[in-house]
Amino acid sequence: MVVVDGVPILTDIYHVILTLQRELRLNGSPLLATIKPPKEGADLMLTCPYHKHGMESKPSCGITTITKPNVPVGTLYCFSCKTTASLPEVISHCFGKHDGGAFGKGWLMEHFVSVEGTSRSELFNIPARNSKDVKQNYITEEELSSYRFIHPYLYKRGMTDELIEMFDLGYDRQRKMVTFPIKATNGKVLFVAKRSVNTKFFYLPKDLEKPLCYLYEARKYYPDSKELYICESLFNALTMYKFWFPAVACLGTGTKEQIEQLKYLGYKKYIICLDNDSAGDKGRERLYNALYKYALVEFLIPPKGKDVNDFANDSRENFLNNFSKSC
Ligand SMILES: [Zn+2]
Repeated sequence: MVVVDGVPILTDIYHVILTLQRELRLNGSPLLATIKPPKEGADLMLTCPYHKHGMESKPSCGITTITKPNVPVGTLYCFSCKTTASLPEVISHCFGKHDGGAFGKGWLMEHFVSVEGTSRSELFNIPARNSKDVKQNYITEEELSSYRFIHPYLYKRGMTDELIEMFDLGYDRQRKMVTFPIKATNGKVLFVAKRSVNTKFFYLPKDLEKPLCYLYEARKYYPDSKELYICESLFNALTMYKFWFPAVACLGTGTKEQIEQLKYLGYKKYIICLDNDSAGDKGRERLYNALYKYALVEFLIPPKGKDVNDFANDSRENFLNNFSKSC
């Protein structure tokens, strides 16, 4: 993991360098022409930005992807010109700044951290890109506590007391709907989704820009996971948590903004568990095409017409046997 002034960056080095490359292109710079995806633990190889004006034909330059004795992750060294530089220094250099890496540090913080503080728990507070947190009105504790009831419908859908506690699931007695507080990545509650216990009516606030629901919980409860499951509905994602798999719910098959966010979360593998219907088929294809360059992408496909939640009452041993892994 790259660490900048004591603050760890969760995004892996390959994706950091790809982001750098993309930004250089947008700025008209040809540096980092070739970047080879690293094998587990091996160095990332790329065309050196320090000699031949970055125009060497074959990558002769490495960047470390794991911590080695006295060599921090992200250290560049070039076999040709013998340059050694830290990741912030490389970034500064690529943008033509000779500031000992000061610009590079700022760039890393701005793109991958945006949080002040160093403790692990504070990492859960990373705001989403283009976050509207500043103007956001969060749901008050008073409103949340008014929903803290358990309705049998939650059990019917396979929820357990542990899940109810972890996700603060509840019941709106006036509207006769079960409630799902959805948190921003800073842990504050953005909105409360509701589902009727008598009909299929599902309530979301109007004009909502759908977040990756339960991303906060995935990071909180599974801070070291390299995998993330992508589901459609909240009940589907909650079912994955029941079987100890960290998951997000898209409240659909994934919006442009959600997909953009998924690219940079730093997970090594995404497992797409959309429903097995025509919308799910299209969603799977779109997610795969958007994400395969950023992470491994696998599928968990329920039988025709089913979704993950249909198997919520299965045993942990058998749960995964309900799904096929390819389209
Ligand atoms: Zn070089």
